[in-house]
Amino acid sequence: MSVIVYIEHWDNKFKKLSFELITYSVKLADMLGTEAIALSIGNVPEQELQKLGKYGIKRILSVDNESITKFDSQVYSRVISEIAAGESAKAIVLANNNAGKSLAPRISVRLQAAIASGVNQLPESVSPFVVNKRVFSGSALARIHLTSEITVITLSQNSFDLVENPAEPVIESANVSLEQLSSKIEIKDIQKQTGKLLLQDAEVVVSGGRGMKTPDNWAPLVELAELLNGATACSRPVSDEGWRPHEEHTGQTGKIISPNLYIAAGISGATQHLAGISSSKYIVAINTDKDAPIFDAAQYGIVGDASKVLPKLVEAVKVMKSS
Ligand SMILES: Cc1cc2nc3c(=O)[nH]c(=O)nc-3n(C[C@H](O)[C@H](O)[C@H](O)COP(=O)(O)OP(=O)(O)OC[C@H]3O[C@@H](n4cnc5c(N)ncnc54)[C@H](O)[C@@H]3O)c2cc1C
Repeated sequence: MSVIVYIEHWDNKFKKLSFELITYSVKLADMLGTEAIALSIGNVPEQELQKLGKYGIKRILSVDNESITKFDSQVYSRVISEIAAGESAKAIVLANNNAGKSLAPRISVRLQAAIASGVNQLPESVSPFVVNKRVFSGSALARIHLTSEITVITLSQNSFDLVENPAEPVIESANVSLEQLSSKIEIKDIQKQTGKLLLQDAEVVVSGGRGMKTPDNWAPLVELAELLNGATACSRPVSDEGWRPHEEHTGQTGKIISPNLYIAAGISGATQHLAGISSSKYIVAINTDKDAPIFDAAQYGIVGDASKVLPKLVEAVKVMKSS
């Protein structure tokens, strides 16, 4: 029995999300009375793989095959399923990001496994297997009973604190059958956006709504995001108006994100907006209306005019950074 955790890499490097997955899986394996095994696919250097050991993983399987050069959910899900079956995995853990969301259902079908997506905490119990997850934009908690032998879990980013638990992992090269690696899809080229922090990857997001009044008022919001090494976002009407680009729009019809900190300036907190940001760890709302629904979703609130509050926050962060 084991817990298999698939650890994606970005240009052969891991991120904080990778370490969150390791921390979660090691604890899940403890609950199940078994070991967690990290699975890496692609050409990740040994030095990078060793970094996973800091969070308690003792065994790493590395699939580094020349036929796998680009992410292909069909091939990757076959590889993960084959390895999970070979290791008698009781649970398979993935990130609840684009890659994880494309892999988890395929693995679930292959292994006849129940699936819980976007969980943000360890199971309440493992026998029976019961996990909780936030639903309806975070306004309710669903208790999910998973009754199959094997469970597939996707973990929301920033939902689980890192716990250092240094181990010296054994790295093994894992072989998979060539048949598993053949693909019907040929990915010719991947063009990546460079030089800009992607919204989904940002730990801090500063976001503006219609309460910002005009696109000319965005400068302090952008400056605050830059000072905090974060990204900028907006509500849908703002991008519909063309005040900000569509790729910044968060919510039901936009990007779904879970940063550590989401600062919402002049955003009312409509359900459709909250659907994209409610799994943020901390939400700070700035709004002139003390009864705006965003305050119900926020841990911290400032009742005030965003055009006055944001410049003050910028100054405060500058002072903090210079001291
Ligand atoms: C099918 C459907 C899908 C949708 N999908 C999305 C989605 O994905 N994302 C999304 O965001 N919306 C979505 N919407 C729209 C959503 O319902 C809301 O209309 C929208 O989120 C409101 O945007 P807002 O909060 O910026 O604007 P408003 O609702 O106009 O709120 C502006 C807020 O700013 C405050 N304010 C005013 N002046 C100031 C000031 N000077 N300083 C500070 N605060 C101030 C106001 O008190 C108010 O709370 C969707 C709607 C539908 C029907």
